[in-house]
Amino acid sequence: MSRGEGLSPYFTVTLRGRCRLHELLSHLYVLIPVLDNEKHYWVGDDEVDKLLRHGEGWLAQHPERELIAHRYLKHRRSLAAKAIERLMEEESPELETTEEAAREEEAIVEAPLSLNAQRLGTVLAVLRESGARRVVDLGCGEGKLLSLLLDDRRFERIVGMDVSSRSLDIAADRLRLERLPPHQRERIQLLHGSLLYRDKRLEGFDAACAVEVIEHLDPPRLAAFERVVFEFARPQTVIITTPNREYNVKWETLPAGQFRHRDHRFEWIRAEFQAWASAVAERFGYSVRFLPVGPEDPATGSPTQMGVFGLKND
Ligand code: SAH
Repeated sequence: MSRGEGLSPYFTVTLRGRCRLHELLSHLYVLIPVLDNEKHYWVGDDEVDKLLRHGEGWLAQHPERELIAHRYLKHRRSLAAKAIERLMEEESPELETTEEAAREEEAIVEAPLSLNAQRLGTVLAVLRESGARRVVDLGCGEGKLLSLLLDDRRFERIVGMDVSSRSLDIAADRLRLERLPPHQRERIQLLHGSLLYRDKRLEGFDAACAVEVIEHLDPPRLAAFERVVFEFARPQTVIITTPNREYNVKWETLPAGQFRHRDHRFEWIRAEFQAWASAVAERFGYSVRFLPVGPEDPATGSPTQMGVFGLKND
C-alpha cells in the first residue's frame, strides 16, 4: 500500500492474490470501511449481521478480527462485542451444547432436581406422549418451556404467549431468537396477548399448556380463561399446572397460610383443583386426568398439581 501525493487522505492500494472474485469483494466490503475508519450512516444491529455475512469463512480466523469488528461497527462497543461473541460461536458450534450440559449438570447436582425443572420435564413428557406437533405455551413467562420445546425437533410449531412484554423480551433473549438459523427461527413465535380475551392466534394447535398461570388470574376472570382455551382455541390436549396448597406446610420457610408467590390470587387444595378441572372438562367436552409433579407425600400430595385434558372426539 502506498500513500498518494502529498497529505491526501487517499491511498493507492495494490492487492495481489488468487481467490474467487466473490471472496475478494466480501473482503473489500468489510475492509474498506475498516481502513477508512469512517462510516457515514447509522450503525444498527443489522450491521452485525452484515459483518458476519461478509466475514463468513475468513473473519473468525483473522488475526485483527477485534479491530475489524470494532471499526466496522463504528466503535460501538456493545455491537462489536456481540459480533465477536457470534463469531466465536460460529467457530465452535459445540459452545452452546457445552453451556447446556453445564446447566443440566447444575440441575442434577442441585439435588433434588428443582421443582421447576421437574414440572417442565413432566409437561414435556406429556406433550411428547400426546403426539402434539404444534404447541402453544400460554403464559410462557421467560420461555423456559419454549426453550425445551425448541430443542426437540418433533415440535414443528412452537408459540409462547404472555401478557407481560418484559417477560417476552427476556424469553426472546433466552431463546436467542435473533440468532437462530432460519430453519429454527420459523418454528417459534412469541405473542403478546392476554388469556382473558378470545384470540384467533391461539387456534390451530394440537396442544396448549398453562404452567403455573391460573393462580395469577383473578377468580372472577377464570371463566373467561376457560372459554378462551377450551371453547375457542380448543386444542386436542390442554395441560394445566398449579400449586397444591396442601403441600405448603412442608416448606419450612413459608409462613403458615401464606401463598408461594405474592402475585398468586389463590392456591387450591387438590379437591378444589380437581373439582374445577372436572367441571371444565365436562362443560367443554374434554376428559381430564391428574398427575402429581414433584415428591409425593402421602399426607399432602405433591407440590404441584397437573391436569391433562383430552378433547373427546364425538
Ligand atoms: N409458565 C411460566 C411462567 C409462570 S408465571 C413458567 O412456568 O415459568 C405466570 C405467567 O403468566 C407470567 O409470565 C404472567 O405474565 C402470565 N400471565 C398472567 N396473567 C396473564 C394473562 N391474563 N394473559 C397471559 N399471560 C398472563
